Amino acid sequence: SLKSKTALVTGSTSGIGLAIARAFAAQGADVVLNGFGKAEEIERNRAAIEQEFGVRAIYSAADMTKPAEIEAMVQEAQARFGSVDILVNNAGIQFVSPVEEFPADKWEQIIAINLSSAFYAMKAAIPGMKTRGWGRIINTASAHSLVASPFKSAYVAAKHGISGLTKSAALELAPHKITVNCISPGYVWTPLVEAQIPDTMKARGLTKEQVIEDVMLKAQPTKEFVTVDQVAALAVFLCSDAASQMTGSNLTMDGGWTAQ
Ligand code: NAD
Repeated sequence: SLKSKTALVTGSTSGIGLAIARAFAAQGADVVLNGFGKAEEIERNRAAIEQEFGVRAIYSAADMTKPAEIEAMVQEAQARFGSVDILVNNAGIQFVSPVEEFPADKWEQIIAINLSSAFYAMKAAIPGMKTRGWGRIINTASAHSLVASPFKSAYVAAKHGISGLTKSAALELAPHKITVNCISPGYVWTPLVEAQIPDTMKARGLTKEQVIEDVMLKAQPTKEFVTVDQVAALAVFLCSDAASQMTGSNLTMDGGWTAQ
């Protein structure tokens, strides 16, 4: 049980982050949601967490490209709930372009959101974890923290970077009962992915099954998507006592992608 623990999950208004926040709440943790989206939808998700799981949930609109807002988000969480015991650095975006045409502002934005925001959030949350002698830091990396695809230079660089940050912080924090790990999913079924299917069917003249198997899951031997709930279950496991000796790990959940 995660009762009396507080979990802050960045990028949790949608997809993987929302599933992780809900899974922690189901274990009794108070949660801090973060991310962008429609105000009513965010409020609906926040209120649903409180109603379904009987925990407290607050929302921070902090922009992960802004270090001062990240620090303020962690301070606010500590002020409201007394601690941040579990930090999940999950916010992330993608942009696809050849290196020589890659817009410089997109490069900076991806490095900021997918990599540097984790550094700033950890910097703000670690002192409290050290004081309490317990902490869990989980970074949502990707199969792209281990292997590359063309045209995703910023994303692949940021995700390889988060794997290195994870290892270095894990070594520093090992004596403090704070573990630091990353989860590296392959293709995950999120609203974002689902929404791409009709357009791809039209553009390529393919059936839904062909889009899924021949385009999206080309690199994934199981030919199935990972689900957000499967990723969330691994995050919950990493917060359990059974996982107390797991630190500095990069845990793949990618249908065999990176075994090839
Ligand atoms: P998503 O688009 O559903 O969620 C991304 C979240 O990040 C949203 O809540 C969004 O509002 C938030 N966000 C974006 N920019 C932000 C900013 N500047 N400040 C604060 N929040 C911001 O995508 P997802 O698929 O759930 O992705 C979540 C994480 O998982 C990302 O780090 C992504 O790289 C990683 N991932 C996803 C997949 C996949 O196939 N979906 C695979 C591997 C890794």
